Amino acid sequence: AKAAGKDRQELFDPRLRHEQAERIRIVERLRAALDAGEFAVHYQPIVALRSGASVGFEALVRWTPPGQPPVGPDKFIPAAEDSGLIVALGEWVLRQACAEAAPWHRRHGTTIAVNVSPRQLAEPYFADQVRQALTDSGLPANALTIEITEGVLVRSGAHTELVLTHLSELRADGVRVAIDDFGTGYSSLAYLRDLPIDILKIDKSFMPVDPADAQQAALVRAVVDLARSLGLTTVAEGVETAHHAELLRTLGCDRGQGWLFGRPGPPAAASIRLSAESTV
Ligand code: C2E
Ligand code: CA
Ligand code: CA
Ligand code: CA
Repeated sequence: AKAAGKDRQELFDPRLRHEQAERIRIVERLRAALDAGEFAVHYQPIVALRSGASVGFEALVRWTPPGQPPVGPDKFIPAAEDSGLIVALGEWVLRQACAEAAPWHRRHGTTIAVNVSPRQLAEPYFADQVRQALTDSGLPANALTIEITEGVLVRSGAHTELVLTHLSELRADGVRVAIDDFGTGYSSLAYLRDLPIDILKIDKSFMPVDPADAQQAALVRAVVDLARSLGLTTVAEGVETAHHAELLRTLGCDRGQGWLFGRPGPPAAASIRLSAESTV
């Protein structure tokens, strides 16, 4: 009754009504786009800072409406999350990424990281969907990383137990769990305590803007030291300059991802990159 009352109220507020109509329109377009095959997965290399080798890729979804330039995920992931469409879209990305990355893993031993939204993790069949994607693609569990954000426990609400069960089950299979955008949430340290994870991705906002700024560097050092003392693999995001890479190497960060090493690109670009690396 409360929800119906809210709907009725919104019906009489022209501005809210417009916003709601707009949201429904976007979601309908996204659903049609999924059916029409307008989504693609792009891949950004994750590089071992010591050797410079591409040890894996992150899968990043792209939407190209016919006759229009590609739309970035920041524009449509929030609407997909609000509407629940992220569950279908996320499963599509997962299956696509496992299928495209399986031959890279076979030939070059690389891993693939897939972003998973809180809504997906709260689905009862999430772990089964991941296992099915692995079976169908032939990708071994230990070549897959799922990236979750610090908001996962808050936004999964009453489903926290289910989220933790999924993560534990998948880790028991060999899937790695990465905490994404580390340091941008409100209770990062509590998440390190409460979530079963293997990898910590340092958010790109921590990359020093000024190479000479000792405080900015000290903050990165603190995060890397914390992660290492917990036995986690560290990945720095937003590595844009040679100075960033040099600093991270000095601090003992394991891996880097960013424009310095390569922008996200179509699957063919990842293949070409791996072939070029293996012949040098
Ligand atoms: P994210 O998971 O933090 O992904 C990294 C983002 O940083 C990507 O943006 C990437 O293109 C960008 N990036 C990479 N290197 C650099 C750099 O050196 N400097 C800067 N400034 N940016 C860099 P993108 O592709 O626009 O994705 C944005 C966000 O959308 C992602 O952030 C992720 O949260 C979300 N996303 C992308 N694909 C998916 C998906 O399949 N499922 C879900 N649930 N979320 C996704
Ligand atoms: Ca990510
Ligand atoms: Ca991130
Ligand atoms: Ca992000």
